Amino acid sequence: MAPGFVNIRRDVDDKFYRYRMPLLLTKIEGKGNGIKTVIPNMADVARALSRPPTYPTKFFGCELGAQTSFDEKVDRYIVNGAHDATRLRELLDTFIDKFVLCGSCKNPETELILTKTEEIIRDCKACGQRTSVDMRHKLTTFILRNPPKKVKTKKGSESNAPEVASPGNGGAEGEEGGGAESDDELTKRIKSEAAELSVKPAIGEDGWSVDTSPEAVKARVKTLETSMQASLVLNGDDDSDEDSNSPYGQIGIWAVEKRADINSVDVFKKAQELGIEKKHRTVQTLVQTLFTEDIVTEIPKFAPVFTKMMTSEKHQKALLGGIERFVGVEHLELLSSVPKILMEFYQADILQEDVIKQWGTHVSKKYVDKETCKKVRKASEPFLKWLDEADDDDEDDDEE
Ligand SMILES: [Zn+2]
Repeated sequence: MAPGFVNIRRDVDDKFYRYRMPLLLTKIEGKGNGIKTVIPNMADVARALSRPPTYPTKFFGCELGAQTSFDEKVDRYIVNGAHDATRLRELLDTFIDKFVLCGSCKNPETELILTKTEEIIRDCKACGQRTSVDMRHKLTTFILRNPPKKVKTKKGSESNAPEVASPGNGGAEGEEGGGAESDDELTKRIKSEAAELSVKPAIGEDGWSVDTSPEAVKARVKTLETSMQASLVLNGDDDSDEDSNSPYGQIGIWAVEKRADINSVDVFKKAQELGIEKKHRTVQTLVQTLFTEDIVTEIPKFAPVFTKMMTSEKHQKALLGGIERFVGVEHLELLSSVPKILMEFYQADILQEDVIKQWGTHVSKKYVDKETCKKVRKASEPFLKWLDEADDDDEDDDEE
């Protein structure tokens, strides 16, 4: 995993997961009775979660039975006592699960809403569901007393983009595989993108990220994507972690960046260049990275490269796995489009009937968790039914 950033859902082991946050850091200060744990990047972490930094800090206090204190003006967030980073990160996972992720689809793009009856609701931007948080948790009292404010956006606030590529930290020399964009160029581009983003920050007067308009959410996601790319680039030279440096990582990042301007031939050439044009994993990576929310209309454009790569049943399964991740984890709003997506691949002769049927009737945890897997299977039912019906028609025609 790239240094400094982790998936907001750490249980999602997917380097192309859209939602990333800085890894929570801790620093012990003082000693004896005055010993305390400072969380120097709490503001950045909270911003990635679109929650006030006081919420997770207070949550730690509730869970650990410890006093907390914060000074929002100077972004100082403290839990009394000595607590190690691993423990606090685990607690942050719990906080995210309880107070950030949609209770229905587990997407982190939610907003907290307080109802008139003092209930706290997670309003999901991805699936539209509104799910209540566990009102028995002590943090709810704090949230009710300190509700997330709707603040007007302040213009010209200081730059708030998460730690994007700090140049000089990279110094990657031994570049492999010619033809790829050089690290320098990429870093430059990422920096200019980040600069652009920081011009229109969705930050309230007190530093809260509260603007949840579609534009703001988009900007936030973009920032996260940008920082992911940046950390992948920076990580490029210091270890052999396959996340950062593997040909799959490379083709994935390339596809995300260029997808609007490339065609099937470009994609195949790139895969050849990286020596992975025959690998089933390439297929899975490409499904996740070549397409956008307009996947249904984009499939014909990239159908030729998938046709070319589809050399075995394993490749088809990898493609289906890619769809599971694409729809089940990142684009839940597309669940209802699963039948159309399958239909496109089927009609292009990329996916075969028996493979789809086998996939549709077996739950597997290979690509996503069981629950997500079931969700995608369920969404695919109309298409499976259509296949069955088409079968029946066939049987009328030829007898076997
Ligand atoms: Zn949802």
